[in-house]
Amino acid sequence: MLKEYKAKRDFKKTSEPVGSSKKHSSKDPVFVVHEHHARALHYDVRLEIGGVLKSWAVPKGPPLNPSDKRLAVATEDHPMEYGSFEGEIPQGEYGAGTVTIWDTGTYQNIKQKKDGSEMPIKSAAAQGQIEVVFAGKKLKGPYALVRTAFGGEKKNWLMIKMKAR
Ligand code: MN
Repeated sequence: MLKEYKAKRDFKKTSEPVGSSKKHSSKDPVFVVHEHHARALHYDVRLEIGGVLKSWAVPKGPPLNPSDKRLAVATEDHPMEYGSFEGEIPQGEYGAGTVTIWDTGTYQNIKQKKDGSEMPIKSAAAQGQIEVVFAGKKLKGPYALVRTAFGGEKKNWLMIKMKAR
């Protein structure tokens, strides 16, 4: 799962973690949002799913109002260790620029199957229908990440702030 992540990076040059795809020890799964000053500023939203950080680049940043929908472009899985990474990716390397943590915390999966039982987060991700409640400092409450056919690109998702129930 981390093949693409590793292929894109020269770990002799970047201080980003090599990663080992091990499970997080805390009970609730974690999320992190990186503020990434690369060629273009964007925010990387990462959710712990199946022992890795599933990742999306959100050019305009996570929505903070229920009516906002933000494009979220799926990117390669990142290792769990990336959740605490901050630093400078050197010029010439993939994603060159400054990375800081914009927000981090835990999340709860709230996606339900048709019968009302909880859909495992891995299935929700595979179906492109993620619904979670974030418990962060900036990201709080229910959010959806929904895969769209927008622009005919399978990697295009929308990040939506849902109304609190
Ligand atoms: Mn990035």
